[in-house]
Amino acid sequence: MFWTGELIARSAPVRRRLAGASLLSPLLERATAAYLGLAIGDALGATVEFMTPSEIRQQYGVHRDIIGGGWLRLKAGQVTDDTTMSLALGDAILAHGRIDAKAAADAFDAWMRAKPVDIGNTIRRNLITYRKTGNPEAPLSEHDAGNGAAMRVLPVALATYSQPADGIRIANAAQAHTTHHNALSDAACEVLILMVQDFLACKDTTTVEHERLIPFIDRYPVFSYNRKRRDNPSGYVVETLQAVLQAFFTTNNFEDCLVDVINRGGDADTTGAITGMLAGARYGLAAIPRRWCNDLESDTYRRCRDQAQALIGVSKSSA
Ligand code: MN
Ligand code: MN
Repeated sequence: MFWTGELIARSAPVRRRLAGASLLSPLLERATAAYLGLAIGDALGATVEFMTPSEIRQQYGVHRDIIGGGWLRLKAGQVTDDTTMSLALGDAILAHGRIDAKAAADAFDAWMRAKPVDIGNTIRRNLITYRKTGNPEAPLSEHDAGNGAAMRVLPVALATYSQPADGIRIANAAQAHTTHHNALSDAACEVLILMVQDFLACKDTTTVEHERLIPFIDRYPVFSYNRKRRDNPSGYVVETLQAVLQAFFTTNNFEDCLVDVINRGGDADTTGAITGMLAGARYGLAAIPRRWCNDLESDTYRRCRDQAQALIGVSKSSA
């Protein structure tokens, strides 16, 4: 690992932010990279959310810098609901020492009251229902197959690391069903959690594709990703996952993988967030371009880093 040497060669702000990274265990280092990857993908993708690939080409050539803007008129380095809902969920898990449906619903409700920069329709509708009924489980709906629960699974993946699959499924359902009570959403959430955990355990890409992903596609053929290139992925969790998987499995490093998925446009902040999470877990901190770490809002950077490490602590205390 060239981590220590890298640190010495960098400018002061970078040294401050990444100080101590070389002391992290491989597990904590990858967990941190997954969380920063999620936020970086969100911040990078938000600029081109809802644009088509040709609009992106005309305006940016290849979009590869965190510059803000986009339809949300973000500041450079600002993140959106994908990251802020994950952080809200992570805080609720840390406050309770476990994943609790009511605590998750309350955390998301408080998040919505704080007027986030963006919010999905399914999330808003089901949280408003929760305010009326007090039932944290949204009604089962075949229409609620958006990517809004899948975009915030990282705290679950970290807090349930190395736990049995059944427990992971139940834990995810507690958070996911607050807004998305849907079989396709559940399937996507679960495979993402398990893939992140595989990469945290240092499994390689080919192993994860063969042992985790191919059996998943056999079970849920709707998610098949080895066909037509998925550009303009919508918020439908199937399209989102197809674009993510295509980008992830046809590249071999963090930067190429994120640039690939974000330049497909569509729901680019969310495909960026999910891809960044997977790629961070797979390639680790040293693989994340320093300019992207520096460009992320510093408070978001700190919260992601600290929460990643604290949530791994939860997984250890409940193992
Ligand atoms: Mn978003
Ligand atoms: Mn989005």
